[in-house]
Amino acid sequence: MSAVTAGRLALFAALAASWAVVAWLLSRSVVPDDLALPRVDVDAVFGERLVERAERYERFHYANWALAQIVLLVTLVVYARRGAAFARESAAGPIGTGMFIGMVGLAIVWLTQLPFSVAALWWERRHGVSEMGYLEALFGGWLALGGTFVAVCIALLVVMALARWVGSWWWIPGAVVFALIAAVFVFVGPYLTPGLERPEDPKLIRTYERFERDQGVDVPLRVEEVSGDTSQANAYAFGMGPSSRIVLWDTLLDGRFSDGEVGVVLAHELAHHSSHHIPEAIGWFALFALPGALVLVLATRRRGGMGEPAAVPLALLVVAVLQLALAPAQNLVSRAIEGEADWKALQTTRDPASARGLFREFADTSLGDPSPPTWAYVLLQTHPTLAQRVAMANAWATRSQAEGAP
Ligand SMILES: [Zn+2]
Repeated sequence: MSAVTAGRLALFAALAASWAVVAWLLSRSVVPDDLALPRVDVDAVFGERLVERAERYERFHYANWALAQIVLLVTLVVYARRGAAFARESAAGPIGTGMFIGMVGLAIVWLTQLPFSVAALWWERRHGVSEMGYLEALFGGWLALGGTFVAVCIALLVVMALARWVGSWWWIPGAVVFALIAAVFVFVGPYLTPGLERPEDPKLIRTYERFERDQGVDVPLRVEEVSGDTSQANAYAFGMGPSSRIVLWDTLLDGRFSDGEVGVVLAHELAHHSSHHIPEAIGWFALFALPGALVLVLATRRRGGMGEPAAVPLALLVVAVLQLALAPAQNLVSRAIEGEADWKALQTTRDPASARGLFREFADTSLGDPSPPTWAYVLLQTHPTLAQRVAMANAWATRSQAEGAP
């Protein structure tokens, strides 16, 4: 074995070991290891009619999603074969040309995916889940598209510049730079989000402050007006450090949800901050980006590597395939994080009945299938299913009763 090969092997071994250590550190959770989720009779908890309606509603979304994925991959296969032709005709320099080819690819993808977004919106409007107009959705879509364009531009700039500078080892510094860029995006997100108001209800504020003390965090609470666009209820935690925020949709406060149910949402979102889930998610992103970038290096070798604009169309295809291939692992991580937030919310509110009520209400307002088919669970489910969330509330109640008993 030559010294170079031995050095490489040692480097890969060290990387793999660090990867495993970081993954282990990131996957630690306050959810007890021995927690067994009791079986939940979905029809009895959510009601047979609602379950049937939600299943029918979701079936359309599944088919629409699957078709969109097939069209996406076919489009990118064609572009990977033909798109390289642009590389020979442009005079913008290799990196400029690569970015141009990336933007053209993205525009084509956007056009081919548009019918599927329209179909999804049509279905949501038909079921009263969304009230958004088509033009309004298109405009919102433009904003999101602008964000994607910027992100892809930056990613291509970083990858191509690094590949030209350090050669085929760019994937190691590349993954680090990607994680740093993600951290910047996450940090500035709350400052760039308009229309977040302070809550007014003194009772809500008192409950929130009690939960903050309980979880040892201090995070501003905001309310976002979405009631003109949707009747769905949602909330989210975003930002990091000084930009940390929790946002409740105003649909959550329109009287359909009890104070106890809103409390469960508050405690769940606070848990995302008190358990440092957002920096953890960036850590996971880096862990997935590292092998992903290595695959990109290997896949684009025959096109001259990522420093060459001719490799960009193929790279778009590889990234789309990677996204699909890594989705089960990413969803597994996401479900563990969400499960921990649910558990902490139960510890904070000590109100499993309200948690159960909230999850039942979610099935109704979002028409979410409480117990989706396995393939959809693996590929699409970022949260524990509503049935699993009810089961966790039941498990918590059983445990706290056992602990409270003499
Ligand atoms: Zn959550």
